Amino acid sequence: MAKVTIPSYMQEEVYQISPDYVRISMAAAIELGLKKGQMFRGCSCGCINLLQNYPEGCWANCTYCGLARERPGVPEENTFIRVNWPLYPTDLVAEKIAEKEANGGVGRVCISQVQDHRAYDDLIDMIGRVHRAAPEVPISALVSATTLDEDKVAHIKTTGVDIVGVGLDAASEKVFYNNRGKGAKSPHDWDHHWRIIRAARKLFGPMNVNCHIIVGLGETDQELVDLFYQLKSEQIAAYLFSFNPEPGTEMQHVPRAPIERWRRIQLVKYLIEEKDLPREALEFNESGDLIGIDAPEMTVEVAIDSGLPFMTNGCPDREGNLACNRPYGSYRPGEEFRDYPFRPEPQDIVTIRRELRLEEVFHKLSQPAVS
Ligand code: SF4
Ligand code: SF4
Repeated sequence: MAKVTIPSYMQEEVYQISPDYVRISMAAAIELGLKKGQMFRGCSCGCINLLQNYPEGCWANCTYCGLARERPGVPEENTFIRVNWPLYPTDLVAEKIAEKEANGGVGRVCISQVQDHRAYDDLIDMIGRVHRAAPEVPISALVSATTLDEDKVAHIKTTGVDIVGVGLDAASEKVFYNNRGKGAKSPHDWDHHWRIIRAARKLFGPMNVNCHIIVGLGETDQELVDLFYQLKSEQIAAYLFSFNPEPGTEMQHVPRAPIERWRRIQLVKYLIEEKDLPREALEFNESGDLIGIDAPEMTVEVAIDSGLPFMTNGCPDREGNLACNRPYGSYRPGEEFRDYPFRPEPQDIVTIRRELRLEEVFHKLSQPAVS
C-alpha cells in the first residue's frame, strides 16, 4: 500500500483515527441502528465488534489480511475496511452500546487491536470509553500480542476486560513464520505470541483466554489437531476461522480449505473439546491429512445432529451463551455457511452431512457390527 506521508503527530487532524474513531463490523452497525439492514434468516449479532483505525491499516503484513501493510492501493481505498467495517466516532458507538444495553442488553463488546505504535494506549482508552458508558457489558480485548508485554497484559486486566483473545491464526510455527512473521516481512514472533497467551491465561483464568486459529493457511490437519489438544490441556479456548481470500492480499488467489476438510476439522475439534475424544482415535497419513476417526457411532451422530460443532466459535455473553457469532465473518452473503451464526436447523444438518462426506474417514462406522 502507498505509504502515508503525513507524520503521525499530525494524522489526528487529517484522518479519523483511533482512539476517537473506531471501525465497527457491518453486522454490529445494523444491530446498533447505525446502518439500515437485516441479517439473513433473522440472525442477530450478539457481539459488537470494534476495530482500531489508523491511516495505514496495520503495520504488520500478514499474507491473508486485508489490513496488511503491503497490500496494494492507497490508504483511503480498501474494500475490506470500507465496505464491511464502517467508521464512527468512538463516543457515538459507546453511546449506542449504552442505549442498546438499556433496551434489552448487549451480549458483549470486543475491541480489536491492529499493529501500530499507538495501539496499546488507544486500546486502554477505548475500553475506558465503552466501560464508562455501559459498565455492565462484558468486554473482550482481541489483542495483537506484538504490542504487549506481561505488564501490559496485567494492566488490561484492571480495565474491566474479562476475556482476552489472541490472533494466533497460524496452527504451527512454520505457518506462522511464513504468513505472519519474518517470512512475510511482518513483525510477529511465534514464541512471543505464546508468552503473551500464557501470561494472559495466568491472569484471566481458565477459558477466559482464546486463540483465533485460521484453517487454510497451509497447515496440516495434524497440526490443527495437536494445537486443539495443547490448548485444551492449558484451558485456553480455541476459536476456529475459515480462511477466505481477501482481494488485494498476497493470498488473494489461494483457494479456501475444501468444505469437507473444514467440516471434519469442526467436528473433530468438537469431539476433542466436548466428548474427550482421545488422540489415538485420530489417524493421519504422512502428509498430516486426517484419514481416520475412530469414535462411538452414537457420539458422532448425536454431535452432528446437534449442529453445535458447526456453529461459530466465539466469546460468550453474561449467561454463557455464544455472543460473538460473526455473521459473514468467514463467507460472503449468498455463499454457503462456513460457520453458522445460529444453531443449524434440520435442513442445515442435511447440507452439513453432505459436505462432511464422513464415510471417507469414518471407516469403522461403515463396517457391519460384529455379532
Ligand atoms: S496483525 Fe492482524 S490486522 Fe495486522 S496484518 Fe496481521 S492479521 Fe491483519
Ligand atoms: S471470539 Fe469474538 S469477542 Fe472473542 S476475542 Fe474473538 S472476535 Fe473478540
